[in-house]
Amino acid sequence: MNIHEHQAKAVLKEFGVPVPRGFAAFSVDEAVKAAEQLGGPVWVVKAQIHAGGRGKGGGVKVVKSIADVKAEAERMLGMTLVTHQTGPKGRLVRRIYIEEGAAIARELYLSLLVDRETSWVSVVASTEGGMDIEEVAHSTPEKIVSFSIDPATGVFPHHGRHLAKALGLTGDLAKQIGALLPQLYAAFLAKDMAMLEINPLIVTADDKLRVLDAKVSFDSNALYRHADIRELRDFSEEDEKEIEASKYDLSYIALDGEIGCMVNGAGLAMATMDIIKLYGAEPANFLDVGGGASKEKVTAAFKIITADPNVKGILVNIFGGIMRCDIIAEGVVSAVKEMGLKVPLVVRLEGTNVELGKKIINESGLNVIAANDLSDGAEKIVKAVRGAA
Ligand code: GDP
Ligand code: MN
Repeated sequence: MNIHEHQAKAVLKEFGVPVPRGFAAFSVDEAVKAAEQLGGPVWVVKAQIHAGGRGKGGGVKVVKSIADVKAEAERMLGMTLVTHQTGPKGRLVRRIYIEEGAAIARELYLSLLVDRETSWVSVVASTEGGMDIEEVAHSTPEKIVSFSIDPATGVFPHHGRHLAKALGLTGDLAKQIGALLPQLYAAFLAKDMAMLEINPLIVTADDKLRVLDAKVSFDSNALYRHADIRELRDFSEEDEKEIEASKYDLSYIALDGEIGCMVNGAGLAMATMDIIKLYGAEPANFLDVGGGASKEKVTAAFKIITADPNVKGILVNIFGGIMRCDIIAEGVVSAVKEMGLKVPLVVRLEGTNVELGKKIINESGLNVIAANDLSDGAEKIVKAVRGAA
């Protein structure tokens, strides 16, 4: 789960992390009030969307009068902000953040994330802050330093010294980064973060470290123990289909392609997506209905797929181990009864109760193309979609 920059900064502040003062605003009036409260003389007006690269897209403006805060608030609220992370459709700006402006001497990069190889938290740092870190990693990888922290012992002072050296921080600034690292690590662990990215971490003109931008995502599997974090969820930033899927506990990710997939098991779902690509089409989603799903869950899953206007064909690919093929068949039939079926449907069923599953589908009168195996299924759905086009 992702949150907005202003929320991330509020969470970090609880752990003593130095962040600029600021207020979120949902209207121009609120923005002006926030600016008055902050006092100036410099303010930053920042669009709050769950995507980075806002600065380049016109979503971050440094201004020097309340009149300009007002003008920028009027411009940003309601605008569709397009950045390299939003895709061409962009995101509607529904809230902004008004912050006190900082005089920047240097922009650094610092992030914490879970290293899946070691199962430790990794720290990634670079002197090249304020830029796209993927670009830095690509063109000047030597400017990125990373190390991991042993969970058994936590942060040691030597980690701080290592970080100071990597970022070229000396004297009091080295002390400040030495204090900041354990604060960030504590926040990361306590809140079950999956990623914490500060870009930029700045050195101010008067030699203070400040977190100028913060992007935080949380481990969804741990949200149940963080009521405070769950409160921060902004549904308007999420894909409607994914929200609907999460109600039914389905692992669903919307994608850009045209073939809707209903599959059980994450591994099989990935294999299905790969093989659809192999036959020259793109999957419209990742969907794992899981083992032992109920008919209601399968119905919900199939409805989500059919409701997606990008879906030009559906491939149901079930290998029933724990999952029973008859439940899948019943779910598909009941969803189609409610929603209709306007696109080709290929069904490949294998495993537990497969004969019963096939019987339910055959007797339903649905216009289904049967497939014998995974490869056959992918080939048939791609052909059906291409043929229809
Ligand atoms: P992003 O583009 O979505 O990553 O948004 P950021 O919050 O990182 O802001 C983009 C850039 O705006 C930063 O890298 C800074 O160069 C600039 N910026 C943001 N806040 C301030 C500020 O308080 N003062 C100044 N001078 N520049 C700022
Ligand atoms: Mn940034």
